[in-house]
Amino acid sequence: MEEEWQQLLKRSLKSPEEIARFFNLDAEKVRKVGRLFRVQITRYYASLIKSKGDAIYRQVVPDEAELEERQGAADPLSEDEDSPVPSIIHRYPDRVLFLVSHLCASYCRFCTRKRKVGDPGKIHPRDIEDGLAYIRNHREVRDVIVSGGDPLMLGDRKLEIILKSLREIPHVEILRIGTRIPCYLPQRVTPKLAAMLKKYHPLYVNVHFNHPDEITPEAARALNLLADAGIPLGNQTVLLRGVNDDPSVMKALMQKLLTVRVRPYYIYQADYVKGTAHLRTTVEKGIEIMDSLRGWTSGLAVPYFVIDAPGGGGKIPILPSYIQSLSDEQVVLRNYAGEMFVYPQVKDKPEKRPHVPPCYAYPFPSV
Ligand SMILES: *Cc1c(COP(=O)(O)O)cnc(C)c1O
Ligand code: SF4
Repeated sequence: MEEEWQQLLKRSLKSPEEIARFFNLDAEKVRKVGRLFRVQITRYYASLIKSKGDAIYRQVVPDEAELEERQGAADPLSEDEDSPVPSIIHRYPDRVLFLVSHLCASYCRFCTRKRKVGDPGKIHPRDIEDGLAYIRNHREVRDVIVSGGDPLMLGDRKLEIILKSLREIPHVEILRIGTRIPCYLPQRVTPKLAAMLKKYHPLYVNVHFNHPDEITPEAARALNLLADAGIPLGNQTVLLRGVNDDPSVMKALMQKLLTVRVRPYYIYQADYVKGTAHLRTTVEKGIEIMDSLRGWTSGLAVPYFVIDAPGGGGKIPILPSYIQSLSDEQVVLRNYAGEMFVYPQVKDKPEKRPHVPPCYAYPFPSV
């Protein structure tokens, strides 16, 4: 029998005609954009839109600007080069991404993986067996991030088979699930799902919220069920033009996440993906946002700001510079409010000093 969330999903806005009618757009243009990257919006998420072009709208409603492909790359993070089998991305020494579903409840127009997501030919159920075999054969993998697409698009039974198979691998210590379901289709998080997930601890869930308006009573209910199942919740946010490229919006989002027991984990600089130039913003904007968080609000509300390096270098943390100068005698530091402080160095013999990354060896321009 179909569950309520499956029925809700079926009633999502899907066809170009439906979407064009709902948002008063040109159906032909919607069709054109949809040929490049699938369009779908749950009615629940569409109901959060307050006005045309607002933060919710920009994330999911197709835009002609997506047809502009002169900038960006199809696979900006070169994930395909780190993919030994189609369902695995193995970039770091001890952990892998395991892509188990090509489906999402709604499709983010800025998706990094849009070359694969929404396409059943690219992430296929039969690839799951190969992924499990790869993880079994690689004893260095102690952390598996179940991702996609959205893994919670699978029914409870299919998802459980995957989690159970992973748990049976002795060297896999922790499991993580990356999902945007609590944001797009919170009704999918049921007591039954939470009870099933609870059997596979230590299990972490990373959710994806980009704007404070997404944290509704329905989302709070879903997150609460997961947290009550003992699942530590983290959040990943993508910095997006016209969505959250504003320190006050980002601070409100981070603070609101903590009230629903979600710890902000990453803010990502938007990846260099084809057809997303209208949603990307500058790195300076991200640094300004981090400067407006650290010290001004709870440290728990301050995630890492990272750039996932084009070409496959992995996530690189970006910090405002707090070190003004550094010598054998002293370190000059700037605090969150811009005041200067001097920390005297220990009087070690020079050869006992650890190697300092070269960028710190240069004097910083003083503010
Ligand atoms: C983000 C990512 C991970 C996980 O990174 P953490 O910093 O451990 O959260 C692992 N593999 C790939 C390919 C990733 O992109
Ligand atoms: S939920 Fe994640 S995988 Fe799905 S479209 Fe959005 S960014 Fe891509």
